[in-house]
Amino acid sequence: MDKELLLSRLVKKIEDCKRCNLWKGATQAVPGEGDSDAKVVFVGEGPGFHEDRLGQPFVGQAGKLLDKLLSSIEISRSQVFIGNLVKHRPPENRDPAPSEIAACKVWLDQQLEIINPKIVVTLGRHSLAKFLPTSKISQVHGKALRVNRQVVIPMYHPAAALRSRDVLVNLEEDFRKNAEILRDPDKISEVEELKDSNKDPNQMGFFNK
Ligand code: URA
Repeated sequence: MDKELLLSRLVKKIEDCKRCNLWKGATQAVPGEGDSDAKVVFVGEGPGFHEDRLGQPFVGQAGKLLDKLLSSIEISRSQVFIGNLVKHRPPENRDPAPSEIAACKVWLDQQLEIINPKIVVTLGRHSLAKFLPTSKISQVHGKALRVNRQVVIPMYHPAAALRSRDVLVNLEEDFRKNAEILRDPDKISEVEELKDSNKDPNQMGFFNK
């Protein structure tokens, strides 16, 4: 069936979701948005104040930085899909609780199943933990890692980059470093082949260290 239709049916279910208590304090759900056939999906943590008001992901200050980073590598928002681990805003912008992330997991899993992107860019440590629960962001950020069917590129959260100059420098560098495969994810296999001899058997499928 048409991916757009499948995603829009999911949006309706997400809007009605009461699987945890976050909906009680939220204005509305923020299901995520972008190309239903995107090859690259960005996964943040959860909506903040502005996202809650507008019903769109990454539209506040962190979102503006994300837009800037995307345009620095000549990618527009409409080419990718942007979503979050939790679909309702945690009160006072606190981190989503593990129970909330677990309750909301069904939605992101289904979105990823439908979109079936080649690359998932995780933004922040909570998002990283969904895909690589034992990895530390300081050690893996910017690396393209094969995780089952997908390539995961962990990155720092743009909100963290707004608080720290060092994090911002790392985030900008990670976008630059991965610009080619983010623009054209079909190039991944070439990169993988090229770097295959560099694989570290102790890590899961590193290929652009
Ligand atoms: N931070 C996130 O993790 N997600 C958003 O949508 C906005 C800010």
